[in-house]
Amino acid sequence: MSKVEVIALGGVGEIGKNCTVIRQDDDIVVIDCGLAFPNEEMPGVDIVIPDFTYLIENKDKVRGVFLTHAHEDHVGSLPYLLREMNVPVYASTFTHAMIQSKLEEKLNLKELKLKTFAFGDIIQAGSLSVEPIRVTHSIPENSSFAIRTGHGIILMTGDFKFDFSPVDGKLSNITRFGQLGEEGVVLLLSDSTNVDRPGWGPSERIVSEGLRRVFTQAEGRVLLTTFASNIHRMQQVYEVAAETGRKVACVGRRMENNIDVCTRLGYLHIPKGVRIKLDEINDYPPEQLAILTTGSQGEPMSALVQMSKQEYGRLQIKEGDTIIYSARPIPGNEAAIWRTVNRLFRLGAKVVYDSHPAPVHVSGHAYQEELKMMINLTRPFYLAPVHGEPRHQHLYLSIAEQMGHPEHRLFTMEDGVPLVLDETTAYQGERVACGRVLVDYSGTPGISDEVLRDRNNLARDGMITVTVAVDPEAGEIVGDPMIQAKGFHGPEGVLDRASDILWDALNALNKADLRDIDKLRRDIADLLRKYIQKQTNLRPMILPSVIEV
Ligand SMILES: [Zn+2]
Ligand SMILES: [Zn+2]
Repeated sequence: MSKVEVIALGGVGEIGKNCTVIRQDDDIVVIDCGLAFPNEEMPGVDIVIPDFTYLIENKDKVRGVFLTHAHEDHVGSLPYLLREMNVPVYASTFTHAMIQSKLEEKLNLKELKLKTFAFGDIIQAGSLSVEPIRVTHSIPENSSFAIRTGHGIILMTGDFKFDFSPVDGKLSNITRFGQLGEEGVVLLLSDSTNVDRPGWGPSERIVSEGLRRVFTQAEGRVLLTTFASNIHRMQQVYEVAAETGRKVACVGRRMENNIDVCTRLGYLHIPKGVRIKLDEINDYPPEQLAILTTGSQGEPMSALVQMSKQEYGRLQIKEGDTIIYSARPIPGNEAAIWRTVNRLFRLGAKVVYDSHPAPVHVSGHAYQEELKMMINLTRPFYLAPVHGEPRHQHLYLSIAEQMGHPEHRLFTMEDGVPLVLDETTAYQGERVACGRVLVDYSGTPGISDEVLRDRNNLARDGMITVTVAVDPEAGEIVGDPMIQAKGFHGPEGVLDRASDILWDALNALNKADLRDIDKLRRDIADLLRKYIQKQTNLRPMILPSVIEV
């Protein structure tokens, strides 16, 4: 019988850019196609996407991309993959509705093969088949996938929690997980993000209580920030606002657009008369207003960040405003979030980001006992945690061991290293092309490590340009070398001394040396770099130019 390979192109050993390939012979299915956010060492980088080389090399084998849900870390790199291959994309109605505008920006929707699934469908993908199973998270129509292979079922949980009172009332299909366990799950690929939290996670519904408390106590306006895709949270805001006598306006084009789409499709039920336009807020006193806004992650262009800098024309933060952060910081964004929070406090607003015992936000990921329940239901032969950093993977596997799973059936996956299943065993195969691709603000992927190094260099130590004029015919230097610096800071006179040393070195060269312009350029840069480094311990970028006169 043939081998089955599971290859994460992103999303294991890290949180973000989830993308998992499952291959059986000449058939490939791709689960999710997400992005990650840049860290502080990636100046000018907008998003980070997986390296799709492996899929591009095997594009004739790709039977479809299956999306678990509409969060950016699962769908954000889809436009970049579809640019390379026009393969079918399977997702729930809600997920499709959420990704349409993003796809439209970069691709022609009419040419794409977007296909909608319902929970319980079985979608044939070559020799593999995929069954979506409803499971709760922090977004509507979230799915796990059962992928049937020649060696049994591979169960990808996707992001999940077991929420027994979800905001939309739609429960996880626990029965189905149990049935699949009976049928035979060969491999469980499980969410592990919250494995370090003991017990059971709180239900999304508890947030309504937290919101009710803040909405009642706030004397002025209440602003709430969350992800533009967090439709459940918006539903809760509209309901609590209706109860507490507030009208709700929305700031942010994407959020407004999502509210329109979800109202039309029936995912959002806004009580009559509660929704108002932003221009109408002046018709109501502050204590009768609530405002939804983007910017929960400190994104520089978002409405909330601009408001905190008093640079947003349509709405100003005033003393007496209460701002609720109803979203968990994505790792890497913390510093930007705290800067925004501090600016808001400075403007006289009160910021609520943590609230006990009724929280204003809960995590969408399973805690320890929920993860154990998933293992218990599906009774997998092999286990491999996904959606986690090495510390999460390690802890997850030690819990699985405590549950009686022997060590040789537990795997710590790595991006790009296939987990291979054959008739009798599972093992880690040879690494395939894999890595990260950095996309800049123009949407162009492929910022190289060299460019990144240059940017960090420039940001840290600045830049020095040096211009030397030579007459190659005569074989002599014309005039003094000209040195200019930008963003460089060193001891006084260091550049003048560098210029003198350069002058002496150039004058010591013979005519032949002065005719080899390329070598001359390199020698000038080397000399200057060494001198500056010795004198200052700095490594500014050196840009030499030699002009022939
Ligand atoms: Zn998610
Ligand atoms: Zn996720």
